[in-house]
Parts: sequence; C-alpha cells; structure tokens
Amino acid sequence: MADPVPLSLQPRGTEPAPVESGSLYFIGNATVLLRLGGFTVLTDPSFIHKHEQTWLGYGLHTSRLTDPACAIADLPSLDFVLLSHFHGDHFDQAAEDRLDRALPIVTTPQSAELLAGRGFANTWPVDRWQTQVVTKGRAELRITATPGHHGPPLVDAALPDVMGSLLEFSPTGGPPSFRLYITGDTLLIDDLEEIPRRYPEIDLALLHLGGTRVLGILVSMDAEQGVKCLQLVNPLRAVPIHFDDYDVFKSPLADFQEAVVAAGWADRVSYLDRGDTLSIGREAAVSVTPGLGPRGVPTSPRGPDTAAGLSTP
Ligand SMILES: [Zn+2]
Repeated sequence: MADPVPLSLQPRGTEPAPVESGSLYFIGNATVLLRLGGFTVLTDPSFIHKHEQTWLGYGLHTSRLTDPACAIADLPSLDFVLLSHFHGDHFDQAAEDRLDRALPIVTTPQSAELLAGRGFANTWPVDRWQTQVVTKGRAELRITATPGHHGPPLVDAALPDVMGSLLEFSPTGGPPSFRLYITGDTLLIDDLEEIPRRYPEIDLALLHLGGTRVLGILVSMDAEQGVKCLQLVNPLRAVPIHFDDYDVFKSPLADFQEAVVAAGWADRVSYLDRGDTLSIGREAAVSVTPGLGPRGVPTSPRGPDTAAGLSTP
C-alpha cells in the first residue's frame, strides 16, 4: 500500500532552523508536548480534570485521578496532533471542545473517520507500517505507524484500532537525527518484534503502561510487559507515561520501577511528574526540569509575584 501524501506545513515567521535537541513536556496520561527538529507536536490530548469522567466505549467510563499540568489555552502554537487511538483518555471532551478544528491530526484510519464525524476534518490517516511524512521548511519528520493491539485476541476486535508511532526527525532528505518510539495502548504482542528489526537504533521510547483493566481484562502493558518491551525495543532511553491518571489503571508505577531495577535498566529510564520537562536530542545531556510550563519558561503557580522578572507593586 502506498504511503499517504506528505503533509506540508508552513514555517512560521522568524522560526529558527531545525535543531538537534529539544524537549518533551509531560502534561499527563499519554499527553506530551514534543518540541524537536523545528516541530511542535501534541500527543493523545487528555485535558479533563480530577474527578471528571471520560468514555471508554460500550457505556463504560473512567474517572480521572489527577489534573493535567496545563490547559489547552496554555499551549504554544502546535504543528499537529498525533493520536494513537480514539478512546476518551486519549482524546477527551476538553480536547474535542477546545482544540482548533483546523489542526492536522495524524492517526489511524478508524480514528480519522470518528474525528471527522466530530468536526475534525484535517486528519492524516496512516495504516500499519505506512509512513506519513511531515515537512516544514528545511525540517522533515517521518511518522511510521507501528503495530499495537489494545487487548487479547477476540477482545481486541471490540476495541479501537491502536497505532504505535515511530518518529524520525531529520533535515529534509538527510539521515534521521533522532528516533522516538511511542508504544500507544498496546499489549506486548509478537508483532512488536518487527520494530527493532526495522529500527535497531531508537533514541527514546515512551511506554504507555498502567496495566489498564476493563471488566477485569488487561488492555495495556503492566510493569512486567513494560520491562519486556524495553528489552525488546532496546531504546537508549525510555520514559513511562499513561500510568496513574485514570481509575482503570491497576499496575502502579512503583511496580515498574522495581522491575526496571531488577532488569538492570535503571540508568536508562527517566521518570517524569506531570509538568516536568525532559531534554531530548542526540547531543543533549539528559535532564529533567520541573516547573517549566508548556512554553518552556518558568511558570508561576502562586501568582504574579513569583513570576520571573515580575514584582508586585
Ligand atoms: Zn489509554
């Protein structure tokens, strides 16, 4: 099957040339703001607040246990949204109400159809192993849809199609300067074995964990599967996301941390709190900085007197 036509974005005004390093801001659940290689990308937008509920299909709902680190209104200008699948904890009612309906959304063909029905028509569907190329000035980003199954056979047929994503950032026509793998909500399935065969060098992996259980059935990786996924994909660094924001998540992050230590992976896994920023890029020394907002500048949670450079009269 032919790859989709490239998505060509206009560089904005005085935007600097593509850079080799960037940042990942963890908003909560599977929602991250990624700034790298000249692109600003939002993943799986979930912006409802603590105690609010969202839908999982078949009349099932889940309650949020946390607050997102920021609101949609706080975000910088986005190039596009990358959506792994259409479930309320990945595209919730706040996203539906407040995201710009003209924003491009790269996602599965099934999600693209459902989004179109909700007024998001600028969708860029990618099938498994297809690559969506996104260009912006001299920067290029290749997004390849990797396999994912949200549940065991039979159950999976009743759940939304899920894609993982392999993002390759490069100058146009040049070799990739950074490879990022996002698992999506998948179990550890045999099909994932193809990922390291095709992409033996992955710089960073974002693991959707949580050990989600719906009606008692495991539908996302738990601690044990998460560590096996690391060992399979063998990224230089990994960050767990999607682990404690909703009440259907049953595998605590502490279990994953313990399994990571036991497997000898402790120095290759970074842990982010909501609101933390991870520096990323081949050249960047890995560091986690709390308190930077989605625009990469210090936030002032206690009012204007704590904002940088401001003083109360
Ligand atoms: Zn999920």
